[in-house]
Amino acid sequence: MTALVLDTSAFIMGFNPSKTAEAYSVEAVEVELSEGTMPQLRFRMFREKGELTVRAPSLRAQTIVDDASSRAGESGYLSKADREVLALAVDLKLDGREPIIVSDDYAIQNLADHLQIEHGSLANFGIVHRFRWIMYCPACYRRYQPPEKKCRICGTELRRKVLSKASASRC
Ligand SMILES: [Zn+2]
Repeated sequence: MTALVLDTSAFIMGFNPSKTAEAYSVEAVEVELSEGTMPQLRFRMFREKGELTVRAPSLRAQTIVDDASSRAGESGYLSKADREVLALAVDLKLDGREPIIVSDDYAIQNLADHLQIEHGSLANFGIVHRFRWIMYCPACYRRYQPPEKKCRICGTELRRKVLSKASASRC
């Protein structure tokens, strides 16, 4: 049976476990979500409604993940929550389940490949990213809000870029 394992990005992007298969996550994800934000409230609400099972990964699975991340050179890119999400997926696989990690995080996806664990990005589950755009000056790197078109300091034409996921999640 399929078991979805949700990482921090899944909650930030608004993934809804009740519409899908059984959903799992770890305590460290709740901690990583900022206190009092919608993603953290959703995490707690889904757990209270029994739509989300929060489980601690075994030490054995954590060791498997740590070994794999050293080999893959990803150690520095994984947070405690990332490691535990991967380890929980390893546990579920050892239990004979079919875990799928739901994550938009490149380091997690890469390591899931190394561990031969399936993963899906949020787009796979029908979640469209709401990107935050900013304008920036390519000459002096000052940032502006749209609809600003020219840099007020040096007059250079501004360019548009998407804020990184990490920056967007802090807003
Ligand atoms: Zn400028």
